[in-house]
Parts: sequence; structure tokens; C-alpha cells
Amino acid sequence: GATAEAGAKRVLLAAPRGYCAGVDRAVVTVEKALDLYEPPIYVRKQIVHNKHVVRTLEKRGAIFVDETDEVPEGATVIFSAHGVSPAVHAEAKALSLKTIDATCPLVTKVHREAVRFARDDFDILLIGHEGHEEVEGTAGEAPEHIILVQGPDEVDDVEVRDPEKVVWLSQTTLSVDETMETVRRLREKFPKLQDPPSDDICYATQNRQVAVKQMAGECDLMIVVGSTNSSNSVRLVEVALDHGAKDGHLVDYADEIDEAWLEGVTTVGVTSGASVPEVLVRDVLDWLAQRGYEDVSAVTAAEESLLFALPNEIRRDLKARD
Ligand code: SF4
Repeated sequence: GATAEAGAKRVLLAAPRGYCAGVDRAVVTVEKALDLYEPPIYVRKQIVHNKHVVRTLEKRGAIFVDETDEVPEGATVIFSAHGVSPAVHAEAKALSLKTIDATCPLVTKVHREAVRFARDDFDILLIGHEGHEEVEGTAGEAPEHIILVQGPDEVDDVEVRDPEKVVWLSQTTLSVDETMETVRRLREKFPKLQDPPSDDICYATQNRQVAVKQMAGECDLMIVVGSTNSSNSVRLVEVALDHGAKDGHLVDYADEIDEAWLEGVTTVGVTSGASVPEVLVRDVLDWLAQRGYEDVSAVTAAEESLLFALPNEIRRDLKARD
């Protein structure tokens, strides 16, 4: 009866979830810059794709702009975790900006791969989403050599100069399964297609997807905390639905959860994207607990301990201050 059902309500909490090493480094970079330097501190684009993070840093004084030319000459600007193209570095130089580069080292790695394969005159099939900042940055490293492939459906239209010299690279935050399907079809078409020297889809993206896959089959509802422009967060909802979750939604804040989603729901899965502070997940767990979902168990797919050093400029100036 109703009592038994109420007793069965539970939450499966994915691990790992939330902040990855690249996001942590980027957010701390802005915080330290606000402490170290005279205002104003500009940030080009959202430092990470999370509404709450951007609002919080704005309150502390960071000024977010879309383009480098919105930064006054000589001012300090931080480049976001998603990376920038060489053209953006050149713009900043022309404006005599003091730049701090918070590009995730795992994105920089993909930039280097693009530069290297372009130098060897490969056509580079970059799997990623058009218009995403990371894709713009990576493509800008080798605009003459890069062909964007957004997914399996676009493979038929891909044309290369020399099918003997093609390599694929990817955005760091894609669905692993969909990307493998895109690669499979590309390889059918170009049997000599080379793989990237190491995984471009980063460890954090992969681990968060693995955890969701492990629990999705048991979930009547999956709540992913994250912003709509966060690629890896959006992918988590898709992965959940593909792997058996009956329903799934992306929310920035607990108060965006619709009570109607809970109708007939016994098991709720909860996770968060790589740009999401844990406090927002706590709020979701509290919201659920107030509605009878108090029993929380972790589903752990991997342990993460990676940490990245802060950008050189910040490390140097922190040292000088101490
Ligand atoms: Fe770096 Fe991956 Fe985090 Fe992006 S999601 S910032 S590539 S670790």
C-alpha cells in the first residue's frame, strides 16, 4: 500500500560528480586574481559553464565579457577553462592586456594535437558541437585543416583532401558512446583514419558518464544539476535516458525541480556536471529529503584525485606577495 511505497523512496547519488580539476583550477584562478590584483578583473566568456559560479564571482567583482575588445586597453583579462584560439591571444596582445590563461590543461592538450597534425598536413576531423567555445578555440589552432563533425549523421557529408592522412580529435565533454559511433562511421569511410594520441574526452566527462550508466536502470527519475550551456551536464541527462532512466531533467537550482516529476517515483538518481559546486547538489538532496527521499546511497564508479597547478602568473604573484 501507500505506506510501503513511501518507505521505498530513495536517492542514488553518483560519484564522481561535480567539479573536475580543470573547473576547480579556473574558479580558483578568478578568486585569486580578485585577491591579488587591483580591480577591475575581466573574464572573457563564462569562466566555466555554470550560472551559479558566474553569479558568485560577479558579486565578488569579476566582470564577464563576451569578446576581448570589450576589455579596456591595458586591463587584466582571464581566459576561461574552455580555451581560446591564437587569434584571441593576438587580440589581447594588440590591446596590451595582461592575460591570465585558465584554459584546462586537458583542453590545451587537444590544441597541441591539432597544431601537430596540422603541421604534418593532416585533415583533422574534429568531433564537437558547432559554436561551443572549446570547439572555436581548438579549431582556431588550425583553421585550414579542421573539419567539424557534429555527430554520426554528419559523417556522410565529410570530404577530405587525402583519405590516407586523416585523424580525428574531439571536444573534451562529449558523450563517449556517441563519439565512438561517429568514429566507427568515419573509419568505415576512411579506413586509414588515425586516432588521437590519447583520449580527448577527458577523465571527468568519462567518469561522470560511467557512474550515471551504472545507476540509470534503477532510476525512475534522474536529476542532473548543471546549466543548459554546459556540454558535459547536458550529456549526462542523455546518457541517463539512453541507459534506462525513465525520466531525466537538468536543473541549475533545487527550486527548478517540478513536484510533478516525482509522481510515482521511487528511486531518484542525482548527479552534477563538472562545473557544478557541491552546495547546489546538497540543496537538491535537501529538497528531496523534505519530500520523503531521505535514504541516500552512493554509486561510485571511480575515485578522482587529479589536481592542476594554478596558471604560472598566479603562482608567481602569490609567491611574491607572501
Ligand atoms: Fe578539463 Fe575535463 Fe574539466 Fe573540461 S571537463 S575543465 S576538459 S577536466
